[in-house]
Amino acid sequence: MMKVSVNGYGTIGKRVASAILAQPDMSLIGVSKTSTNYEAYHAQRLGIPLYVPKDSIKEFEDAGIKVMGTIEEMFRDSDVIVDATPNGVGAQYKQVYSSLGKKSIFQGGEKANVADVSFSALCNYDEAVDKKYVRVVSCNTTGLLRTLCTINRVEKITKVRATIVRRAADPKEVKKGPINSLTPDPASIPSHHAKDVNTVLKDLDIVTMAIVAPTTLMHVHMLNITLANQVTREEVLSTLSSTPRILLVSGKSKITSTAEIIEVARDIGRSRNDLYETVVFEDSVSVKGNELFLMYAVHQESIVVPENIDAIRAVTGFRDGLKSVEMTNTSMGIRKGYLV
Ligand code: NAD
Repeated sequence: MMKVSVNGYGTIGKRVASAILAQPDMSLIGVSKTSTNYEAYHAQRLGIPLYVPKDSIKEFEDAGIKVMGTIEEMFRDSDVIVDATPNGVGAQYKQVYSSLGKKSIFQGGEKANVADVSFSALCNYDEAVDKKYVRVVSCNTTGLLRTLCTINRVEKITKVRATIVRRAADPKEVKKGPINSLTPDPASIPSHHAKDVNTVLKDLDIVTMAIVAPTTLMHVHMLNITLANQVTREEVLSTLSSTPRILLVSGKSKITSTAEIIEVARDIGRSRNDLYETVVFEDSVSVKGNELFLMYAVHQESIVVPENIDAIRAVTGFRDGLKSVEMTNTSMGIRKGYLV
């Protein structure tokens, strides 16, 4: 059993912790908390061991939250630390992980140079095997890479032009906006996503543009992909529908929006209404000459969670990437085919 801890129990950290608990080959040492908020109380209710900064132990205990030890003690007991702290904080922790000789997984809010390799399981699992530090790319980049590496199996991609409509905030973020504007993010082109894709697909000709929209549910990407040779729409749909971690929504289902996609996630009883899969609008998949067009939605709070689990296996020397993806999918109920 790999002993894993999660530093930063927020949007990503709590989902990664739940996913670790579902793995047959991992045990969750505990999670860290720095604030005595609702997430700390809920973790306690779930029986997850909580570790806190040394000078906060009394504050937590006064708040009625049982503390297992300090964050550093949690690190010492772990084989792998998943860092899910806010953007830039992970880079500061790297010194601590390094001084303790611990392997660690960082998130996409960190700069690429925080780790030995940027990671997306369907693209470059092998590159992460036995590495000390791995960075799981952001939610948008995970959506892009998962889709592009899948299309690349149908036909070689020569060029990608992508427009990204970003959700403004996660549902729990009460202070973020905008609430009444569409905001280029940034107006200059390309957006940072193209560079991030190139940390994994190093030679790909890709330009991305991004805009922030007042919604909290999901991102939507619009892709124009140029291929080396013509393919049929049927070939593309057949590959998308047979690839785990990708789901299609058909026009027949009358799902026309991210709101209805999330409603289905609720209907099918997904924990926290999470959709780990990239959700492709089937009707958008179109071919014109060597060009392929498609639109898909990305559930920003959960798409990176299975990638974190695979990254943990990779750094601990588990060599079979396909097997890891399968184990993760099975344990988390991640599907392929159609959403409904
Ligand atoms: P979050 O704010 O929801 O959670 C971060 C957690 O870390 C909070 O619980 C916070 O209390 C805790 N924390 C803050 N400082 C800490 C410290 N010094 N030590 C330990 N814990 C500390 O943030 P998030 O959205 O989960 O983002 C975490 C990382 O995941 C970022 O790199 C982000 O870019 C990336 N990411 C976020 C999303 C998303 O949509 N939220 C998607 C993909 C990747």
